[in-house]
Amino acid sequence: MKRDQRTCRACIDAGYPLESWPVIAPREGQRAYLFGQAPGIVEGEERRPWRGRAGQTLRRWFELDEDAFYETFYCASVTRCYPGRQASGRGDRAPTPEEQRLCSRWRDHELRLLQPQLVVTVGGLAARTLLNVRSVTECVGVRYELDGVPAVPLPHPSGASSWLNLPENRERVVAAVDLIRNELARL
Ligand code: SF4
Repeated sequence: MKRDQRTCRACIDAGYPLESWPVIAPREGQRAYLFGQAPGIVEGEERRPWRGRAGQTLRRWFELDEDAFYETFYCASVTRCYPGRQASGRGDRAPTPEEQRLCSRWRDHELRLLQPQLVVTVGGLAARTLLNVRSVTECVGVRYELDGVPAVPLPHPSGASSWLNLPENRERVVAAVDLIRNELARL
């Protein structure tokens, strides 16, 4: 599956302006599935997930170093190629519904093959996609189930989001990280 995913160009063939090749989870054998929105520019260049500042923040939340982070989580996302900047120049372009649909086959393969024992979504799009929730505020700090597997949403750790500045939201993140760590201890 990874070999096929590595060379996927389905969105390019459909006319979307992607700016990297697919970003691939670097290891195998993880029992937790981390599901974000889409790679950023650094991840697209390195073709590895969570390499930039947001990844550092995520590892700080979990108190995991890089090796432990990648050994713990199989890192995937709604779409797997860097989508480029928004036309306004402010932030990265959100994947279109059609790109999300095209890339969903990789997620479906992964969940079927990996059978993860914990799912962690990162950011609003990932939570809406897998857990059918409406907003990050509603779901962060709550434990869900996805086909019988525990699922815990996190907000996107990007410093660009003002959501994290509110004290009540920081408490939601602490509660979500506690839930995740408890679930990881059980695996
Ligand atoms: S975003 Fe997904 S479906 Fe689209 S080209 Fe990249 S790997 Fe393929």
